[in-house]
Parts: sequence; C-alpha cells; structure tokens
Amino acid sequence: MNENARTKKPALFLDRDGTLIVDVGYPKDPALVEPVEGAIDAMRTLSDAGYSLVVISNQSGVGRGMIAPAEARQVHLRFVEVFRHEGVEFDGVYYCPHAPEDRCECRKPSPYMLLEADREIGVDFSRSFVVGDRLGDVETGKNTGCRAILFPSQYVDDPGDLPDFVCNGWSEATPILLKALHESNV
Ligand SMILES: [Mg+2]
Ligand SMILES: [Zn+2]
Repeated sequence: MNENARTKKPALFLDRDGTLIVDVGYPKDPALVEPVEGAIDAMRTLSDAGYSLVVISNQSGVGRGMIAPAEARQVHLRFVEVFRHEGVEFDGVYYCPHAPEDRCECRKPSPYMLLEADREIGVDFSRSFVVGDRLGDVETGKNTGCRAILFPSQYVDDPGDLPDFVCNGWSEATPILLKALHESNV
C-alpha cells in the first residue's frame, strides 16, 4: 500500500436538501433549516465509525436568481450551526450555485465536488457512498466509483436499478453504511 492509499478515508457524500435538512424548495430562509429525522444521530454514528462527512449540494436557485447569494450564505451558516450544536462537524461542504443552462463543471451529477473533496481531505472512493434523494445524486456517485443510497422523494418516479440501496431514511441507511465499512476494514 502506498502512502497515498493509506491516508485516503472512506467518505459519505451527502446531499443537503431532502437528505440532511427538510427540503423546502429553493431554500433562502435560515429560520426554515430543520434536520431530517435521524440525520444528526446518523452523522454522529457514521463519523465516529470512520467516514468523512462531505456535503455536496446543487443550489441552482442562486443561478436562477431565486436565491440571493447572501441568502444562500445565511442558510449555509445556519445549516452548519444546527449540526455543530449537536456535535456534528462536516469535513467539507461544497455547493454548485449555477443554473443548468450555465453548463458549469460542478453541478451534480458531475463528479467535480467529490474530486475537490478528494484533493482537500483524501477520499477512498471504492469505500465511499453517496446518499441523496434524487437520481442525480445516485448518478454522481456512479460517476465517481462510489456506491449510492437513495432516499425516495417526490423527485423520483422509479428508482430503477442504479441505486445500490433504496432506504426509507437514516434508520435504514445507517446500519447498511456501518456494515459496508466493517466489511471493507477486514
Ligand atoms: Mg436533495
Ligand atoms: Zn456549478
């Protein structure tokens, strides 16, 4: 094993809206930031188990002019604060603020934000997962060599066979993620 492989950690690439906090659609009001049921306990457990916690979020409302950059910033700060208050620190939080028409390089399902995290903290993609509530999240994981867990939402008509697991929230996802980590540690 080379030095690089030894320092790379498994990561959870976490969608934010609908996965960690309740999806309010184009979030611009920090007062509406509310954790998804079980998300805080799950983050504590999974971080303690050895996963890096990396948030990857498309915020196209900014690029579409529906969210002011300052509003997006306030929602971000509140989001980080709510989790920090409960003892959860994220290892990275990345946003794509662009609209689809901008044809940027960072918008999910591009692997851009995940590769950025790898450069900054070192990620073992083969032991990592994406968790999200849209098929675009699942695709992002597949584009980066991760496995993917889908929380079915209003945005998903048919999950198909792309997700490795379809889970009804964190109470189902957490044991799967712990088991995967333990198996990869053998
Ligand atoms: Mg989402
Ligand atoms: Zn972008």
